[in-house]
Amino acid sequence: MKITMIGTGYVGLVSGACFADFGHDVVCVDKDAAKIDAILSGRMPIYEPGLDQLVANNAAAGRLTFTTDLAAGVKGADAIFIAVGTPSRRGDGHADLSYVYAAAREIAQAVDGPTVIVTKSTVPVGTGDEVERIVHEVRPGMDIQVVSNPEFLREGAAISDFKRPDRVVVGTTGNERATAVMAQIYRPLNLNQAPVMFTGRRTAELIKYAANAFLATKITFINEMADLCEAVGAEVQDVSRGIGLDNRIGSKFLHAGPGYGGSCFPKDTLALVKTGQDYDTPIRIVETVVQVNDLRKRAMGRKIVKALGGEARGKTVALLGLTFKPNTDDMRDAPSLAIVQALEDAGARIVAYDPEGMDVAKPMMPGVSMAKDAYEAATGADALVLVTEWDIFRALDLKRLAGSMNTPLLIDLRNIYPRSEAEAAGFALTRVGGKGVI
Ligand code: NAD
Repeated sequence: MKITMIGTGYVGLVSGACFADFGHDVVCVDKDAAKIDAILSGRMPIYEPGLDQLVANNAAAGRLTFTTDLAAGVKGADAIFIAVGTPSRRGDGHADLSYVYAAAREIAQAVDGPTVIVTKSTVPVGTGDEVERIVHEVRPGMDIQVVSNPEFLREGAAISDFKRPDRVVVGTTGNERATAVMAQIYRPLNLNQAPVMFTGRRTAELIKYAANAFLATKITFINEMADLCEAVGAEVQDVSRGIGLDNRIGSKFLHAGPGYGGSCFPKDTLALVKTGQDYDTPIRIVETVVQVNDLRKRAMGRKIVKALGGEARGKTVALLGLTFKPNTDDMRDAPSLAIVQALEDAGARIVAYDPEGMDVAKPMMPGVSMAKDAYEAATGADALVLVTEWDIFRALDLKRLAGSMNTPLLIDLRNIYPRSEAEAAGFALTRVGGKGVI
């Protein structure tokens, strides 16, 4: 199959490289010339484990090419995927669909024969109808089918998620050619026994939001349980395990922490809330999840100030991890942003270290000094805060860290370190959702 990917960001680049690895012929298009130049000279614009090698191999095999020229890129394509951003619209929280509609218009102007336009971006219910309206307005009479194929990959594990997905969802209007093209594109996944699920287009669009909202709800549920555990003297990690072992609940996404962030959950939960309101079917659970999570991030700043004895002015706080989760350099809506703001408001000086996120984070938190590693960050600090659970923070030399600090205070927002280990190293420990089993 000849595939064109419009938008070469986290989703477009990973999907494009994986489709090429399946043996398809892929052109990745982006209007950001700096991004395309970087890729062409072998530098990945994002940090994603294994991506550089996958791109290099498939580019060398001639199956994966890159361009800024959309019109040239879509010629002869069996399927054209739209993988552009759909951020929250400023002001009202609806998904901003301007990039999707602009891409649809450009594609329609440029196609030279029957094709399938596939919306991979996360878009609200009914967006496919509008994309269809636009392309038929621009190219009346041309056989252009519009399909929804939401993406479920996770940053940090994107390649394995794409190649071994739990499921692939394809929403169509029942057109046979579009269905056949999509089945052909995903045929290589048959070997991995990934279910390819065909649904109506609107249903597919909604599945993506329902999935993200459900996961965000699970996280928020355990975070509120964590607060209750702290108040009543229980342990949230044991509560998680105790409920997660029930197969109907499952153990994933039940880790208490500083609140969800990232490029998807915050904007997608908000967009779903807005869709529900527009259709007079408010989704109150998700409305509450959004509110609770927003408040939680800044509350983590207050938790740190409290651990400092209620006064942060003039004190130095060292943060370990800035990205919203490990194995990515994505800083969009990361809890660290709200934590930094709260600590700066309280008068603290902040030093931080993140294995991959510092270049992206620096301009977003200009007052923060970046350290070269965890040990440099901790030196002379009054508190050390574990914000993101990168592997490299899982086996730190706690004695060395405690010994180098002004006050050996560890605030572990990811519950990585057992109380016994932290205290043996000389730390006073604050955790999330309980004191931590000895
Ligand atoms: P991104 O911002 O990393 O990439 C989008 C790219 O599209 C940018 O490089 C931009 O320059 C390019 N672009 C915009 N308009 C264009 C046009 N007209 N022509 C060519 N290029 C254009 O975004 P992302 O994180 O890859 O997300 C893309 C979509 O996928 C969003 O809807 C997101 O919600 C969804 N999604 C993201 C993830 C994730 O983990 N990042 C996972 C699943 C779904």
